[in-house]
Amino acid sequence: MTQMANRIPPRTGTAFPLARGQLLTVIDPLGTQVSDLLAFSAHDVREVISNGRTFDYEETLRLTSGNRLWSNRSRVLMTIEADSVGCHDFLLTPCSTHTFRHFYPDKPEHRGCFGNLLEALAPHGICGDDIPVAFNCFMNVPVDANGRISVSPPPSRPGDSISFRAEDDLIIGLTACSAYASNGGTFKPIDYRIEA
Ligand SMILES: [Zn+2]
Repeated sequence: MTQMANRIPPRTGTAFPLARGQLLTVIDPLGTQVSDLLAFSAHDVREVISNGRTFDYEETLRLTSGNRLWSNRSRVLMTIEADSVGCHDFLLTPCSTHTFRHFYPDKPEHRGCFGNLLEALAPHGICGDDIPVAFNCFMNVPVDANGRISVSPPPSRPGDSISFRAEDDLIIGLTACSAYASNGGTFKPIDYRIEA
């Protein structure tokens, strides 16, 4: 069964269950827009994707088709099945009120992906301290030869996407990111589709 694409409005987020075996496709409909993704085990939400475990077991920082997202309990929660961009970040935390105070003190404060994820995930028993580094679809975080990191506009073009196969019953958190630098200075929606 193929579901019609759902739309996440700019600077918002959502949460939904994803059953084992289902395919989640995250789409950038207009281009140059980041989407933060979290995946928790539906059987125990204390189990969640871990960037450290994933980098360790996958032996790369550049995760793309064929790579798996591992949990804090060293189990595979998702496999990346398709990826038309090949540029994602799993180093940086979801943008938050504190991010805006730190990087954009002259701009209006926003609760960011963190606040949006917190609200969307609260009905599933997940609180702020349970939210780890998200897998940031399409986010462009170059690391230079000295180890310095920066945030550049996402290279995603309109219609680009990344697809994840659920390897367990999951609770997904997903956003249309709210931070200026992450999204090339403008805020667009994110679409997603679930296939059985
Ligand atoms: Zn964000």
